[in-house]
Amino acid sequence: MTKRIFRSICLVAVVVLLASFMLIMGVLYDYFSNNQMSQLKAQAQLAAQGVEQSGADYFSGLDDTGFRVTWISADGTVLYDSDAEAGSMENHHEREEVREALETGSGESMRYSTTLMERQLYAAERLSDGTVIRLSGAQYTVLTLVLSMLQPLIVIAAAALGLSLWLASRLSKRIVKPLNELDPDEPEKLDAYEELRPLTEKLCSQQHQLKAQAEELQRKRDEFEAASGNMIEGLVLLNEQGSVLSINRAATRLLGISRCCIGRDMPLPEGLPEMRELLQKALRGEHGEISVHIDGGSYQIYASPVISNEKIAGAVLLFIDISEKESAEQMRREFTANVSHELKTPLHTISGCAELLANGMVKQEDVPRFSLQIQSEAKRMITLVEDIIKLSHLDEGAEDMRREQTDLYRLAMDTVRSLTPAAREAGVSLELSGESAVIIGVPQLLDGIIHNLCDNAIKYNRRGGSVAVTVTDGPDTVRLTVKDNGIGIPPEQQERIFERFYRVDKSHSKEVGGTGLGLSIVKHAAKLHNAPIGIHSVPGEGTEITVDFPK
Ligand code: ADP
Repeated sequence: MTKRIFRSICLVAVVVLLASFMLIMGVLYDYFSNNQMSQLKAQAQLAAQGVEQSGADYFSGLDDTGFRVTWISADGTVLYDSDAEAGSMENHHEREEVREALETGSGESMRYSTTLMERQLYAAERLSDGTVIRLSGAQYTVLTLVLSMLQPLIVIAAAALGLSLWLASRLSKRIVKPLNELDPDEPEKLDAYEELRPLTEKLCSQQHQLKAQAEELQRKRDEFEAASGNMIEGLVLLNEQGSVLSINRAATRLLGISRCCIGRDMPLPEGLPEMRELLQKALRGEHGEISVHIDGGSYQIYASPVISNEKIAGAVLLFIDISEKESAEQMRREFTANVSHELKTPLHTISGCAELLANGMVKQEDVPRFSLQIQSEAKRMITLVEDIIKLSHLDEGAEDMRREQTDLYRLAMDTVRSLTPAAREAGVSLELSGESAVIIGVPQLLDGIIHNLCDNAIKYNRRGGSVAVTVTDGPDTVRLTVKDNGIGIPPEQQERIFERFYRVDKSHSKEVGGTGLGLSIVKHAAKLHNAPIGIHSVPGEGTEITVDFPK
């Protein structure tokens, strides 16, 4: 811009300089022409006086005056001419200046001489004898004028040009300086030019708009980051080239990458070509979903294109952790298989015995044995079904059961009393110790916990063994301890015994009437009371199980 202004000012200066030069030359030319004519007239008068006094002799003593002198008779015949032979010259009576001098006493004229190829000035004076003295001289041409003034003109033009350049440079810089100093953040500070006020006002309002839009954008981004950051699901936004625009914490954790991948290609886990296909499909504008296993977890991935202005602007990937759902389904499948398997054996036994009895193939003395067998298998089935019902009830949260203040010691006392016959039959001593301790809980579930733990301690014991049940009222918790000196549990199986249908020794469990669901019921019931379970068991020495109920 500075250069442009500089060039424009220079151009204006040069044009003005040339125009002034031509104007001055015109004026000067006019001035010099008039001056020349006055001089010619004065010389003509002097020559007339000379001829009046000396007659024709005047011409003989005439030096080169720089003018052409012609003496013309009253009838126009040329009597003398300083530059040509008078006799050869034509009659001058009709020459404008001669005629005027003959009529008025003096005359002048200006014309183009074809003989001399230049403009000539003429001044004529009438003498007392009626003859006419005429002086003529060539008029200055513009070129001669210019050439005669060439040196000063060049000096003046150079000085003017230099001054113009210097002023143009200073001026252009001065004009542009406030514009260069314009602060885009504070355009209102530019008050150097009144004409720029509408522009600065527009800039100002746009500045405010931009600021407000940027703030709004930042606010929305923060909101989005906060919302997506707290999502359990992984969320990834991609642009139309497949580069990551946004990725939330859950997605980075799941894919095992850092947030630095923003702006780069979507990092895909190794060995998952189907994920690449899903992504490409979404970028082609198709929805899709796949289930994958990443780092031992199961995920459902949904991919959808983002359409903006009827064009694909990118894609969204949503990762949902379905590990729990899958393991729950797996558990349900296993549970159903286990239940069917557990029910199959007693049903077969019952069906077999009943068939033999019905066909009369059992001797009369064996009938009670077969009937007892049927009864015992039916009882087993009833216990199993009861346990399944209890467990599914606990699975649903046991919300219909009321919590109330319950004395754990009192409950333990009732259980010990009810199990004493079974303990006696098994040759195991069963003792209760401790103190009264009240907690808030569901009595039926608490009873189930104590009963199952004591029942196991008797079942998985040996003759002469003992079971000690203790209720301890601690500062924060009430601890129930069931300790036996029975067969114990191998360390690697101590965690697994709480799984459904898990038994250390299946045949022994069946023999003693176990369903494999007792400890699962204990685990669930304890969980509903926020009571952690502790186990310490040494094979051959015995087992101690503790349940800490928060007060
Ligand atoms: P079950 O109906 O078979 O007793 P549980 O869920 O109550 O089922 O127990 C699961 C398994 O844990 C049992 O089969 C048994 O092998 C083992 N177990 C439970 N309690 C004891 C204990 N006090 N001593 C030794 N083994 C035990």
